[in-house]
Amino acid sequence: MLKALFLDMDETLCDTSKANIVAKHELAKSAQILCGDSLNSEKFAERYVQGIYRQWTALEQQKYMQIIEQQSEDAFRVQLIQDLLADMQQPAVTVEDALLLQHCFDKERLAAFDFFPGIELFLRDMRKRLTLVVITNGPAFSQVPKVKRVNLAQHVDHIIIGGQEKEQKPERSIFTKALRLAGCENHEVIHIGDGLIPDIAGANASHIKSVWVRHNQSFDKNLGITPDYIVEHPAELPDFFEKLLFEQLLQSS
Ligand SMILES: [Mg+2]
Repeated sequence: MLKALFLDMDETLCDTSKANIVAKHELAKSAQILCGDSLNSEKFAERYVQGIYRQWTALEQQKYMQIIEQQSEDAFRVQLIQDLLADMQQPAVTVEDALLLQHCFDKERLAAFDFFPGIELFLRDMRKRLTLVVITNGPAFSQVPKVKRVNLAQHVDHIIIGGQEKEQKPERSIFTKALRLAGCENHEVIHIGDGLIPDIAGANASHIKSVWVRHNQSFDKNLGITPDYIVEHPAELPDFFEKLLFEQLLQSS
């Protein structure tokens, strides 16, 4: 019998891509004002987003992880901006200017960050019947403001932020914590997420059933990561769970 849902936040409950696109555009505008026409500002903004999503070369990995571990996420992002602008043949920018650009991105992203349509209602409905636990990967630096922005604590029972734990998804320890918070066994839960490795491989390793929110991602069977269920978009979740809970009711009666 299903007792709880574990839910990923970015791209599952909330439209993070849309917020990133809005923020990227605003960052490009601010960078253009700071650097002038010699900067391909859209390209700069694109590379900044790749950087904050850890799409690094091996050398960058070494450099940036050291800054994050020894200083802060903030310091890394300032360095990233300075490095990208230098690489794009721009005059050196001060820490203050780099911070202004970074804050511009964060502010715009947060302002545009919201649930996918219909998700608030879905959570309200599910919470009447199930315990809801959000498990979101990422540093507290970016996840805490997003959680607050959508008042997530008012919509679910528990929130686990990967960056505040000793391990993130797909590691078992974070799912074990979620099970403890929900007071459930692994067979009484379904985990929903869009990340094939963190969400689906993570749930599989913890013997928890999963729903993969596909978002047009390709599915490589050779990876050996198989979700129990697939929906194409978060908008399908309300109907999917209505049906699942109804079938369960029929089976138990
Ligand atoms: Mg996600």
